[in-house]
Amino acid sequence: MEVYHTIEAMRSKLKGLRPLGKTIGLVPTMGALHAGHLSLLKASQQDCDLTLATIFVNPTQFNNPEDLKTYPKQLETDIKMLEKAGCDLVFIPEVEEIYAGESILEIKFGELEHIMEGKYRPGHFSGVGLIVAKLLNITSPDIAYFGQKDLQQFNIIKQMVNELFMPVKLKLMPIIREEDGLAMSSRNRKLSEKQRLLAPKIYQALSNAKRMLMAGKDIPDVTEKTKAYFAELSDIRLEYFEVVNLETLKSINMLSQAEPLALCLACYLGDVRLIDNVVIEQ
Ligand code: AMP
Repeated sequence: MEVYHTIEAMRSKLKGLRPLGKTIGLVPTMGALHAGHLSLLKASQQDCDLTLATIFVNPTQFNNPEDLKTYPKQLETDIKMLEKAGCDLVFIPEVEEIYAGESILEIKFGELEHIMEGKYRPGHFSGVGLIVAKLLNITSPDIAYFGQKDLQQFNIIKQMVNELFMPVKLKLMPIIREEDGLAMSSRNRKLSEKQRLLAPKIYQALSNAKRMLMAGKDIPDVTEKTKAYFAELSDIRLEYFEVVNLETLKSINMLSQAEPLALCLACYLGDVRLIDNVVIEQ
């Protein structure tokens, strides 16, 4: 496995590979890797000749400076994990490399940045758009892999790639969970022992809501019951729970048979903010 830190060295390596006709799969991450990240890596290894992972904690997508400061870091372990998983190339740039000089560019995503994550994390998606555009421009992969856990993030990236005719295929991979149902996340390691024991309630709430909707209960009723479920849990504070159209992420109040749905939420356990979702493919 080869590790690159500068844009120039990364590009020069990739330029050498292109004439060989190798397909390249990109797996962008912020490090503190877990089995969720490795599942994206595996998907890329199945589809592509070479897999390139990136590790970069992108400051412009953090609306909360404390969250950025305390974001889990374990670079040496990450590199070992990638090596063991058979990753071919890794790009680990410094912040100064990616945001050299004055950065004034902002990407707007219309309504998509005002709902759910966008509503509670102002500026987050502009930062996500910016870093993903930069990474795609630096690495020009054939396919880029993202996780369904960050469903809204995938939608804004899809929009950007389509609107800007970026020559890359995007793939969305399922959420990998712990045995007790908790969606794997780098932020899980910030949970206290007590919070960790409580955290599976998040997926339980989503699963209950899904079950109720599939049994024909209406959306406002299920939403109310889900909010009531969290209100009982004094150590988990629900930020939002939304039933949305899986493709458009527009909020839905009435069930229709043909429409695929996503049930999305964000919540806090102490200072740790977690997101999760489940999908109902009708
Ligand atoms: P992050 O390092 O949290 O920015 O995540 C990097 C990529 O891994 C994103 O595309 C995430 O959606 C994806 N990812 C994070 N957690 C999971 C998970 N539990 N299962 C599958 N993919 C995930």
